Amino acid sequence: MGDLIGKTALVTGASRGMGRATAERLAREGALVAVHYATGKDAAEEVVAGIEKDGGRAFAVQAELGVPGDVHELFLGLEQGLKERTGSTELNIVVNNAGVMGGVKPEDTTPEQFDRLVAVNAKAPFFIIQRALPNMPDGGRIINISSGLTRFANPDEIAYAMTKGAVEMLALHFAKHLGPRNITVNSVAPGITRNSNPLFGIPEAVEQMAALSAFNRVGEPQDVADVVAFLASDDARWITGAFIDASGGTLLG
Ligand code: NDP
Repeated sequence: MGDLIGKTALVTGASRGMGRATAERLAREGALVAVHYATGKDAAEEVVAGIEKDGGRAFAVQAELGVPGDVHELFLGLEQGLKERTGSTELNIVVNNAGVMGGVKPEDTTPEQFDRLVAVNAKAPFFIIQRALPNMPDGGRIINISSGLTRFANPDEIAYAMTKGAVEMLALHFAKHLGPRNITVNSVAPGITRNSNPLFGIPEAVEQMAALSAFNRVGEPQDVADVVAFLASDDARWITGAFIDASGGTLLG
């Protein structure tokens, strides 16, 4: 514990799910965490309050991603929050976690739905990295949340999986580009992980989803957050451009 004392982190989509668990874990390691949200103001403030109650440091920052001006809006709040607390806009860790799923059959996917998936899941992470880089000192960390669906077929999520395939390219190419600055860039691919989807309240559905994992359970947000925290730590300094399977063995087949 305390690996990230003195570091600053942005976690997108941190009002719930894996983003929330990641923000909490990074804060436990000592980082000052920007808890980004789109619509869940109360939830994000609750995450911040929980972190502070546990002795950590965090602040909430709002921005809807996937719309014009999204990254500008995000960094207005982010830089203000960082400056107020640290006196600078230095950002050591970026976790591109916010994402939307499709859940629409390929026959029924509209161009508008496709464009939104691309805008939120793939375009926003690219431009967040682009915008973050001038603020990121040598030794920074970029972690992008992909999905096991880049290796596991699900016809209802073709467009979504395409956006996650695009996200994985960020690690491959940015890792090479940023190696000289000792900035690592990696992809983490969760399997089915508990979130607020009502499916997780149906025992038969949970049983079916659990059966996909070698461990016969669904992932918990903390399972993924711990992997992200490792990649954010100094221990992971020799890993870059990697695809990390955090699917609980789902991809073993
Ligand atoms: P949740 O659905 O629990 O939460 C999504 C988060 O992203 C929320 O904080 C939400 O903000 C934010 N968000 C959604 N859309 C936007 C947007 N347009 N602009 C800004 N923020 C937005 O997420 P999960 O924990 O389920 O998933 C996290 C990541 O992991 C996603 O990238 C997802 O694709 C990926 N993943 C999830 C899996 C799973 O089984 N859960 C499996 C594999 C990958 P708010 O609520 O404030 O609006």
